[in-house]
Amino acid sequence: MSHFQALVLNKDPEIKELSVDELPEGEVLVKVHYSNLNYKDGLAVTGKGKIVREFPFVPGIDFAGVVEESSSPDYKPGDEVILTGWGVGERYWGGYAQYARVKADWLVPLPDGLTLKEAMIIGTAGFTAALSVVALEEQGVKTGEEVLVTGATGGVGSFAVYLLAKQGYHVTASTGKESSHDYLRKLGASNMIDRALLSEKGKPLDAQKWAGAIDTVGSQTLANVLSQMKYDGTVTACGLAGGNDLPSTVFPFILRGVKLVGIDSVMVSYEKRVKAWKQLAETVDATVLESVVTEITLKDVPEYAERITNGEIQGRTIVNVQ
Ligand code: NDP
Repeated sequence: MSHFQALVLNKDPEIKELSVDELPEGEVLVKVHYSNLNYKDGLAVTGKGKIVREFPFVPGIDFAGVVEESSSPDYKPGDEVILTGWGVGERYWGGYAQYARVKADWLVPLPDGLTLKEAMIIGTAGFTAALSVVALEEQGVKTGEEVLVTGATGGVGSFAVYLLAKQGYHVTASTGKESSHDYLRKLGASNMIDRALLSEKGKPLDAQKWAGAIDTVGSQTLANVLSQMKYDGTVTACGLAGGNDLPSTVFPFILRGVKLVGIDSVMVSYEKRVKAWKQLAETVDATVLESVVTEITLKDVPEYAERITNGEIQGRTIVNVQ
């Protein structure tokens, strides 16, 4: 255990042998079983986004594993734990390593009904989708109503389609991948639209189509979604796969009462995390998780990081680090 493998960024990514003594300080040492690949990991590993500022650095924003050592009363050796968010994999060393040492407060216990692997198939993407669905419910979007998901074949989008359909919403998936229509139908989407229809500049107010929308793309896509919302509809915004600007007008807000709710999975409270993970454990079928996953190892991460930043990945990619 004293030496282990990790993907280390020294600007460029490289597999290296590290010793436990080199890990940052923290109360809990975790033997990482699985991590995964999110869009943010893609930006960090390729260097396309200014995610990582200090080198050498171990990326990986999510991990699931087993506690090896703990000085916290909340965890003991053998406990199965999940970590998402808190700046891990951005400012603090993350999950692309066989061991990680972190603050106890950043962990949540693995909920009953999920394995470590399943938790990482869900990961930040599924967790963010779950927070988005809860936000639509809280704003009064009713099951049976029309809900749009953009970036639908992505990690967040795939889970959003699945969770919404499972709860009885009528889901339209916006995607740039025609070859993925069957995949999206299996997850529960009733209709598909080509993402190009949303990425060109549209009208400030368009025909009213959606009671709710989960947007993972941002930029012109989010502006067009806002202009197509029904009166009193709600859009959640969590992503920027299409850009970080928002070239919209105030008309959807002041003429149709449209609500725009921001979703952040990084700093969300421990209580909300435990609740969302419990809901996910109770809702998500193991067979569906297996149908959306691609499993890779640490050495494959740089290639897949490039692909996720190019919008070429479907579903969820997990990293088996052992
Ligand atoms: P993925 O890369 O898995 O999915 C993004 C999807 O967006 C792609 O699969 C593609 O779907 C679509 N897309 C990609 N590029 C473009 C483009 N130029 N224009 C329009 N659509 C595009 O990423 P994730 O699902 O992991 O994350 C989605 C977004 O949400 C990211 O921006 C990420 O940073 C953000 N995020 C935010 C979180 C938060 O806490 N706020 C947490 C997690 C993620 P398709 O081909 O089907 O159109």
